[in-house]
Amino acid sequence: MTQFNPVSEAILAELTAVLTPDQLSITLADRQQHAQDMSQHRAHLSEVVIWPTNSKQVADVLRVAHTHRIPVTPWGAGSSLEGNPIPLFGGITLSLVRMNKIVTLYADDFQVTVQPGLGYKDLNQQLGPDGLFFAPDPGANASIGGMLANNAAGSRTVKYGATKDNVLAMEVVLADGRILKVGSRSVKQSAGYDLLHLFVGSEGTLGVITEATLQLAPVPAIMSSAVATFADVETAVAAVVELRASGLDIAALEFIDAATSGLLSREEGVDWGENPTLLMEARRFAATTDTTERQKMWQTRHHMFETLRRVFVGHRWQLADVAVPISQFPALVRFARQTLQAHHLPELLVGHAGDGNLHIAIPYADENTRQQANLANNKVVLRAIELGGTATGEHGVGIGKAKFMVREHGGTAVNVMNQLKQTLDPHGILNPGKIIPAPGTSLR
Ligand SMILES: Cc1cc2nc3c(=O)[nH]c(=O)nc-3n(C[C@H](O)[C@H](O)[C@H](O)COP(=O)(O)OP(=O)(O)OC[C@H]3O[C@@H](n4cnc5c(N)ncnc54)[C@H](O)[C@@H]3O)c2cc1C
Repeated sequence: MTQFNPVSEAILAELTAVLTPDQLSITLADRQQHAQDMSQHRAHLSEVVIWPTNSKQVADVLRVAHTHRIPVTPWGAGSSLEGNPIPLFGGITLSLVRMNKIVTLYADDFQVTVQPGLGYKDLNQQLGPDGLFFAPDPGANASIGGMLANNAAGSRTVKYGATKDNVLAMEVVLADGRILKVGSRSVKQSAGYDLLHLFVGSEGTLGVITEATLQLAPVPAIMSSAVATFADVETAVAAVVELRASGLDIAALEFIDAATSGLLSREEGVDWGENPTLLMEARRFAATTDTTERQKMWQTRHHMFETLRRVFVGHRWQLADVAVPISQFPALVRFARQTLQAHHLPELLVGHAGDGNLHIAIPYADENTRQQANLANNKVVLRAIELGGTATGEHGVGIGKAKFMVREHGGTAVNVMNQLKQTLDPHGILNPGKIIPAPGTSLR
């Protein structure tokens, strides 16, 4: 692995020469603000935080970093759940938050070109008057760049797909400062290697996304929402599979287990009780179309992680993000519950069930529970892979999932990923320590 160099006074001077003074900070406060995402992983300080305002500045900064072997970790909104933007090896944190504009709206084509630092909620607010929206919705106020880099998904993925399905073109800056365009504004594209989707989900390890053209959807005139509670988890998850097979035009289908449902009922004032619960949204079925009720239901779901954090004061969280083919979802949930019970851990299971995506939130406040949580998480991830699924449906690999990469993809595929990384970033400066497991990584 490359030996990185510290950001010396001379390198700072080179960086300052391509920026304005307010675009670079070495203060502890600024570095601390970019030392940790929303995950349980340990904070690491970068040496300097840089806020570029255009692609040329991104390229200039990367050229300096490439020449001097300085690590560069892109930063969107810092809402990741797997340590993805933590600057493990110091160097530069490259925050894209000041590149936060809509560049061009192509309303007739249902497309928009944006800068990467724009929050998807801000984007949707600005698109409101045009009756359009960007469908992937990870809940937290993630940036478009962070969503593309993590290939984020959310409760609407069951109908609209993940971020990868809603991007058409991007501008990317490579580690050595070269700028390239990938994809096009055509919804059909079959011209050569699909570089667009090579960069989507690459977590800032292959290039920095400086612009993206996104596919939009028309805001539906009427949506119906429904809450269904069940006597037991088995019936609830079996209903997920049946609903997916029913032909209903389902736009969201979320599973919440009894304990979490009870907790949300107490904390958020919803009336789901302590029951396994499904939240659904579709174009055509009779339930509620009342906007306030729908908003309350989805707000409660989207704020769930904050609610859990509020209730489990002083705890850290092991979060699982496994996903399997829909037919295997009941088996995955059954295995996860048995595993949590065997390790004497609380059962807090929720999921974007319509996509076969299960989240397990395991709170821990001492070393023994942390170890049990880690063991249980390992078992559930391996089971998901055995069931034809993945270690991470939407949070990305970051720090915590790198150990499963060979198990999921096989050694040959991981070697090819390594070779791609070498080609695009020969000095390994872009977000080092993420995705590709270090040699000798074990499942511990
Ligand atoms: C309460 C809560 C709920 C959540 N729910 C969901 C959910 O339902 N679904 C889901 O998918 N996620 C969810 N997340 C996780 C998180 O919101 C997503 O992973 C999101 O994509 C992160 O975006 P960000 O802007 O915060 O990126 P960051 O966390 O800042 O960065 C994410 C990664 O992208 C890289 N990066 C950032 N910008 C760029 C760029 N311009 N170019 C290249 N690389 C870049 C970073 O280096 C890092 O590796 C949730 C998080 C929270 C806190």
